Amino acid sequence: MRLLFYFLFTLFSLLSIKAQTEPWQGKFEPIDNMITPPNTYRTASGAPGRDYWQQQANYKIKATLDETNNTISGKETITYYNNSPDDLSYLWIQLEQNVNKKGNEDFGGINNNIKDGMTSRQMQFLTRAIDFPAGYSIKYVKDSNGKNIKTMVNNTMMKVKLNTLLKSGESTSFSIAWSYPITDRSMYSLSREGYEYFPSDDNTVYLIAHWFPRMAVYNDTEGWQNQQFQKLGEFALEFGDYDVEITVPEDHIVASTGLLQNSESVLTKAQRKRLDEARKSFDKPVMVITQKEAEANEKQKSKKQKTWKFSAKNVRDFAFASSRKFMWDAQAVKLPTNTVMAMSFYPKEGLPVWQEESTKAVRHALEVYSEATFDYPYPVAISVNTSNIGMEFPMISFNGGRPKNGKISNNAKQGMIGTIIHEVGHNWFPMIVSSDERKWMWMDEGLNTFLHQRTVAERYPDFNSVTPKSIVPFMSGDKNILRPIMTTSDSELMSQFGANFYLKPTVGLQMLRNSIIGKELFDEAFKEYANRWKYKHPNPADLFRTLEDATATDLDWFYRGWFFTTDHVDMELSHVKWFKVYEENSNIEDQNNTSKVKIDASGKNVQAQTKDFSSGPEMITMNATPDAAYGQFLSRINEPELRKQLSGKNIYEITIKNVGGLVMPVTIEWIFTDGSKEIDTIPAEIWRRNEYEIQKTFIKEKEVKEVNLDPNFEYADTDTKNNSFPKVETASEFDTFKNNKRKS
Ligand SMILES: [Zn+2]
Repeated sequence: MRLLFYFLFTLFSLLSIKAQTEPWQGKFEPIDNMITPPNTYRTASGAPGRDYWQQQANYKIKATLDETNNTISGKETITYYNNSPDDLSYLWIQLEQNVNKKGNEDFGGINNNIKDGMTSRQMQFLTRAIDFPAGYSIKYVKDSNGKNIKTMVNNTMMKVKLNTLLKSGESTSFSIAWSYPITDRSMYSLSREGYEYFPSDDNTVYLIAHWFPRMAVYNDTEGWQNQQFQKLGEFALEFGDYDVEITVPEDHIVASTGLLQNSESVLTKAQRKRLDEARKSFDKPVMVITQKEAEANEKQKSKKQKTWKFSAKNVRDFAFASSRKFMWDAQAVKLPTNTVMAMSFYPKEGLPVWQEESTKAVRHALEVYSEATFDYPYPVAISVNTSNIGMEFPMISFNGGRPKNGKISNNAKQGMIGTIIHEVGHNWFPMIVSSDERKWMWMDEGLNTFLHQRTVAERYPDFNSVTPKSIVPFMSGDKNILRPIMTTSDSELMSQFGANFYLKPTVGLQMLRNSIIGKELFDEAFKEYANRWKYKHPNPADLFRTLEDATATDLDWFYRGWFFTTDHVDMELSHVKWFKVYEENSNIEDQNNTSKVKIDASGKNVQAQTKDFSSGPEMITMNATPDAAYGQFLSRINEPELRKQLSGKNIYEITIKNVGGLVMPVTIEWIFTDGSKEIDTIPAEIWRRNEYEIQKTFIKEKEVKEVNLDPNFEYADTDTKNNSFPKVETASEFDTFKNNKRKS
C-alpha cells in the first residue's frame, strides 16, 4: 500500500500531463473489432489455418471464333471439387458477358450524367442509341450422364441446381454449351476485352477474356460470392487446370494463357525454329514473326480454320488474343527456380516502341517481382498490345500504348512500360495470391502497384515513380467525397478509384517499408504474406495480421488510420523553445549540491511564443534535487556531473500539433548555424497519450538555426508550410488579426 502510494505520488509529480483539447479517439487501440476474427481457417497470425480449404474447378473447353459474325461459341466441361465441409445442392456460375446486355449494363451506373457539349461517342456510352447484341446464349447445361440441369440466371450469375447433392469431399462434372457476340471495345469506357477493328487493312484484333462460364468462388468468408459484376469490381475465381482448344481462322496467330500443345500443327517450321532459338536467348528477344510476315498475313483473309491447343495448370482464369496482324517476339528469362518465356504480340501499329520495349519490360517485372515474393511459376509471360487500358490474366496481359506515326512521347512511353510491368505483375496479385477483387480492389491493385513502382524505381530510374508525395493531392481532397481504402470496389467513384485503391495502399506500404518497419524486416514480411497465400484466397485481415506477425510490430494504429479512415497527415511544428545552460557561481567540486544551475539567461520574453531564435535562449532554473524527492532511495544523482553534461549545450523543446488526424512517426531535421544537419525520428507511439499535441525535448551541442518536420516527404504531409521553425510567414496580416481575435 505504501509502495503504491509513493508510486502514484511520484508519477503525478513528475509528469505534467497536458489536457487534450479534443476527445480521445483511441487511435492506438486494437482493430480486432474491425476485422474478421481469427478461426481454424484463418489464424490470428494471418496464415491459412489448419482447416483452411478452397474449392477447385478444372475446365476442358472447345471454342470457335467466328470472324465474319464476331461471335464466339463453345462447349466446356467443368469438374468441380467440393473441398468445403458443406454439402452443396446448387452451384453459382459467373456470366460476366451479361453485363453488356441492355438492361444489365446500368446495374453499376458508371456513366450517368449529361454534360454540355458531349461527343457522339459519350452519348452512345450513355444512351446506347445504336443498340447491339451482347450477353450469353446458354444452349444447355447437362450433368455427366447427359441429363439436363435446371438453371436460373440472375444478371451476371447463373444458379446451377444440381441433380444430385454434391457432398463435402466429392466432385461433380457438368457441361455447358454457350455463345456470345463479341463486342466492339471502342463502344465501352471500361472494356477489358472485345474486338478492335483496323479499317486500313480490314483486320481485327480479338482480346478474349471472361469469355467462358466460370465457377464463382465458394469460401469460408462468403459462402457463394454474391456480388454481381458491375464492371469496376473485377473477379473472384477458383484455381484449376485448363485444357483449351481454340479454333480460329487459319492465318490467325493466337497468344494465350498456358503452354501451346500442338505447335507442329499451328506454327510453321521457321516459327518453331525461331522459338527454339528464343528459348536459348537470355539477353534479347528473337523475332518469331517479323513485320514483313505479319503484313503478309494481314492480306490473306483465309476462310479455313485451325485449332490451337493450350494447357495450363493451377491458374484461376484463362484468356487469349487472336489476330492475323500479330508480330511476335520472345526471349528466355532465367529465375532461380524457373526459366520463363517472355513474349510480346503486337500489330505493326505498335512499332517501333513495342519491339524495343515490351518484352524487356516483361523481363524486368518477372525479375523484380520474383525476388520480392516468389519465383514466377508459369512457363510463359505474354504482353499483347492494344489501343488502350491494361488488363491482366494468368500468363497474359493486354496493354495499351501506341505511337503516333511511329513516334511516342516520353510520357506515353513511360505509361506504356509502366502498364506492361503492372499487368505482368498482376500474375502475383491477384492471379496467384488470389484475393477477392470484386470486394477489395485495393488488395490486388495496391500490392501490385507497390511492386510495380518498385520495379520502375529500380529498373527505370529516369522514369517518374510514385512516392508518398504523390498521394498528397488526393488526401487533401473533400472529406465528403473521400472513402477509406476499406471500401468495396464498386462503391468507389470512377474519378477516385485509381488514387484510393492503387496509390494510397502503395504509399502506405512504402511508408511501412522505408520509414516505419524498415526495408529488411518489411521485405521479409511481405514475402511471408505472398508465400503464405500463394494459390489461396487471402482477406484483408490476413495481410494486416501477417505484416504484424512477421515483424513484431503493432501496426493497428497504421491500419486504423490509413485503411479505415479518410484522415490525412498534417503535422504542425507549432513551437520550438530554446534553452541554454550556463553555470552561475557553480562549483564542480560542490558535493553538497547546494548551488543552483541556471539554464540561461538572455531571453527577453520567456512566456511569449517566439517566431524564431532571434531573442536568444530562455532561462529556467534547475534546483538540486532535495533528499525528500528520492523517497526511500539512498543513492543520489551526481549533480556536478549532470551540470557538466548540460553545460554549454542547447536544449530545445518542440511542440507539434496533429492537424490532419493521422498519427505518424515524427521526423525532425535540425539545421545548425554552421550549416550542418541532423535528423531525429520519434516513433508514432509518441501520440498515444495525446493524439493532438506532443512535446519533446532534445539536447544539441550546436546552435540550431532551423527545424523542419518530415524533411524527406516520407509521410505525405499535406501542408508543409507549417512544418518549419522559424515559421514561414504565409498568413496575411488580416488573417493573423482574425485568428488572434478568435483566440481571445
Ligand atoms: Zn492493376
